[in-house]
Amino acid sequence: MDFTLPPDLVHLQEQVRQFVREELQPVDAEVEATGQVPERALAGLRRLGLFGTNTPRDYGGLGLSMLGSCLAIEELAKAHIAFYFLSGVNVHIGSKPIELAGSETLKRRWLPELASGRTIAAFALTETEAGSDAAAIRTIARRDGAGHYLLDGTKTYITNAPVAGLFTVFATLDPALGAKGITAFLVEAGTPGLRIGRTIEMAAGRGSAHAELILDGCRIPAENRLGDEGTGFALAMRCLDAGRTHWGAYCVGAAQRLLDLAVERASCRETFGRRLREHQGIEWMLADMAASIHAARLVAYEAAWRYDQEDAGKRTRAAATSKLIGADMVQRVADATLQIFGGAGYSKDLPIERIWRETRVVKILDGSSEMMRRIVARDLFRAADRRNAAV
Ligand SMILES: Cc1cc2nc3c(=O)[nH]c(=O)nc-3n(C[C@H](O)[C@H](O)[C@H](O)COP(=O)(O)OP(=O)(O)OC[C@H]3O[C@@H](n4cnc5c(N)ncnc54)[C@H](O)[C@@H]3O)c2cc1C
Repeated sequence: MDFTLPPDLVHLQEQVRQFVREELQPVDAEVEATGQVPERALAGLRRLGLFGTNTPRDYGGLGLSMLGSCLAIEELAKAHIAFYFLSGVNVHIGSKPIELAGSETLKRRWLPELASGRTIAAFALTETEAGSDAAAIRTIARRDGAGHYLLDGTKTYITNAPVAGLFTVFATLDPALGAKGITAFLVEAGTPGLRIGRTIEMAAGRGSAHAELILDGCRIPAENRLGDEGTGFALAMRCLDAGRTHWGAYCVGAAQRLLDLAVERASCRETFGRRLREHQGIEWMLADMAASIHAARLVAYEAAWRYDQEDAGKRTRAAATSKLIGADMVQRVADATLQIFGGAGYSKDLPIERIWRETRVVKILDGSSEMMRRIVARDLFRAADRRNAAV
C-alpha cells in the first residue's frame, strides 16, 4: 500500500495551507469579534474554488476527488469555522442534492452558481420534532394541479439560511409513509411563501448563521423536484455521506492546528526551571494527541477514498466512522491543548477556547455521534446475519 499523496494534491494542499495562513487566520479574531466574514476573505475562498471543490468541472467546480476535497478542507479547518460553514458546507449538503438528483437543466442553472460562491445553498431537513429521526419530518408537500407542489412546514437550525439563495427542502407527501414519503425540492430564495424565521444563536461559529425556514403555502414548479417522489430520504442520506466525510477531514485539520499551537507553547513556556515539553506528563499528552490525529487522518482519507469508489454500503459506514472518530478525537485534542495552555488557553486572548467550542458541534450536526454509532452497528449486524445465513 502506497500512502504517498499524488503531486497535484500535494500542490493543492500547499496552496490552501498558504491561503489559510496568510489570508484567513489573520482575520479569525475579527470574524469572532464582529460576527462578519470580511469580503476579502470570501473573495479568496472563491478565487481558490473552495465553494466547489468536489463539484464536477463540467458544472464549474474544481472537479477534485473526495480525497482532494478533504485535503482542502483539512487545511481550511485551521481557520475560523465560519469559513468552512460558508464554503465547505456549500460543497456537500449545498450542491450534492442537485448534483445527485437534479435534472440537467437544474444542474446547468445552479451548480456553476454554487461552485463559484456567487450563490450559497442550504439544506433543510431538520425540524423541531425531527432531528435524529429525520424520517419523522412533518413539512408537507401537496400536489397542486399537474405542474406544482405546495410546501408547508417549519425547518430549524438551517445553516446559512439567512444568506442562502437556494434551499433543498425535504418534505413528506404523506407522514404515514415514513421515509418512503419524503421528497426533495429546490426552492429559490424570494419564492412567495418562503421566509427565514428566527436566527438561532449557537455556542460558537460567529460569522455563520443557523436559522428557521418557514414554508407557508410555498408554491414551486414540479421541475424543481429533485429525483422521484419518495426518494428524498435516500438522497438526504447520500448527501450526508459527503458531509460526514468532509467533517471527518475537518476534525483532523482543526486538531492539527491545535497540536501545532500546543507544541509551540510547550517549547517556550517554562515551569519549575524547564520547558513544559521537558516534563514527561506534557510530553505524553503531546504524543497521544499526535497519535490520535494520525489515526483519525488515516480513517478520514480512507472514507474519502471509499466515497470516490461509489460503493454505497462501504461508503456510508466509512463516512460515519470517520465523523465519529474525528469528533471524539478533536474534542480530546482541544481539551488537552487548552490544558497545556493553562489560564491562557481558557482566556479569550487566544484562539484555543474558540476552537474548543467550535469543534464541539461535530458530535451533533449532520447526524449525531449516537447516529454514527447506529450506522456502524447496523452494518456490523447485517454482516453478522449474512455470515450466519451462509452457514
Ligand atoms: C450548528 C448546527 C448546524 C446545523 N445545520 C443543519 C442544516 O444545515 N440542515 C439541517 O437539516 N439540520 C441542521 N442541523 C440540525 C442537526 O442535524 C440536528 O441537530 C441533529 O441531527 C440532531 O437532531 P436534534 O438536535 O433534534 O437532536 P435529537 O434528535 O432530539 O437527539 C437528542 C440527543 O439524543 C440522541 N439520540 C436520539 N435518538 C437516539 C437513539 N435512538 N439512540 C441513542 N441516542 C439517541 C442524539 O444523538 C442526541 O444526542 C444543525 C445543527 C447544528 C447544531
